[in-house]
Formats: sequence, C-alpha cells, structure tokens
Amino acid sequence: MNIVVMTVPHAKCDFIADVDVGYEGHSCDSIAEQEANKLLNELLKLNIEVYEQVGNISRYNLDLNRIESRLSEYHRTLDRFIDSHLKDKVVLLDIHSGDFGYSPIVIFDFKSAMDDILIKFIVDQIGKDLVTIKYGPDRDYIIKKLHELKIPAVLIEFNENKYKKNISIYNGHG
Ligand SMILES: [Zn+2]
Repeated sequence: MNIVVMTVPHAKCDFIADVDVGYEGHSCDSIAEQEANKLLNELLKLNIEVYEQVGNISRYNLDLNRIESRLSEYHRTLDRFIDSHLKDKVVLLDIHSGDFGYSPIVIFDFKSAMDDILIKFIVDQIGKDLVTIKYGPDRDYIIKKLHELKIPAVLIEFNENKYKKNISIYNGHG
C-alpha cells in the first residue's frame, strides 16, 4: 500500500508571540496546516492514503523538527506509525511555511528523494510551475530520521508573503 505521511511540526502559533521576533526569527508556520490540509484532500481524491500529524507544541517550548524533541509524544506517535507500516511503501512530506522567495512553493530535496516516483507524482499534482526545487542539507530532524530508515522524504515550504491566495494549485482540480 502507498502511504503519504505528512508532518506539520510548526503549526502551533502562540498568538502572544506571533510577531516574528521569536525562534530563529520565525515563531510558527502560519499557513502550513491549512496548506497541508488542502494537499491532503487532493491526495485523498486520488485515492492515496494519507497520515497527517500536526504539531501541537509552540516552537518556543520545543522545536519538533530538532533532535531535542526526539522523546516527545509527537515523535513517539510518529515512530509508532512508521514502525507499523514498514511493509508498506511510505513517503514523507514535511510541511512548513515561511518566507523563502523563489516561487509560491519551495521543495527541499534531500538525497534526491525527488527521484521517488510517488513524490514526483505528488509534485506534479501540486503544479510544477509553482514549485522551485532546491537541494537541502540533511539537518532537519524529521527528514533526517526518515532518511535513516530509507524512507524518501522532502520538506515543502509554502511561502507566506509571496503566496497568492488566488493561485490555483493542484492540476486539474481548480
Ligand atoms: Zn517550519
């Protein structure tokens, strides 16, 4: 079975500190969860099974995409899911938002996960003309962990500022 795992580790916005003066200049990924859900719905329409795990801890308290979070409930739950699907074909999309420029969507490819046929297919659905593909370093914890398990994984950034709400993503679905 094909399963797409979607992680959204920085979805929790702490509105007291929502001004971007916080963690590494970026306190939370303000549109990541809504974009993840749009993508999830598109994949479900294509009969692709999706497991989504949205972070519920502010990045100020614990960054779920850094190694210090490895013992958190978030990672234990993710590990349990992955462990129970080792016989399936699993790919991971780690969903973020921020200000990256280039295009509405930037995909960071690690160790050429973009060669994976299922990931390629998903990028085609998102719409290639909206996506810039950059080669990423293997330092983000979720990506790194999945790569150690030989699971193809890419990090997807939706641009918060340059993102245009009227842009139609997802080929053929409007
Ligand atoms: Zn993020």
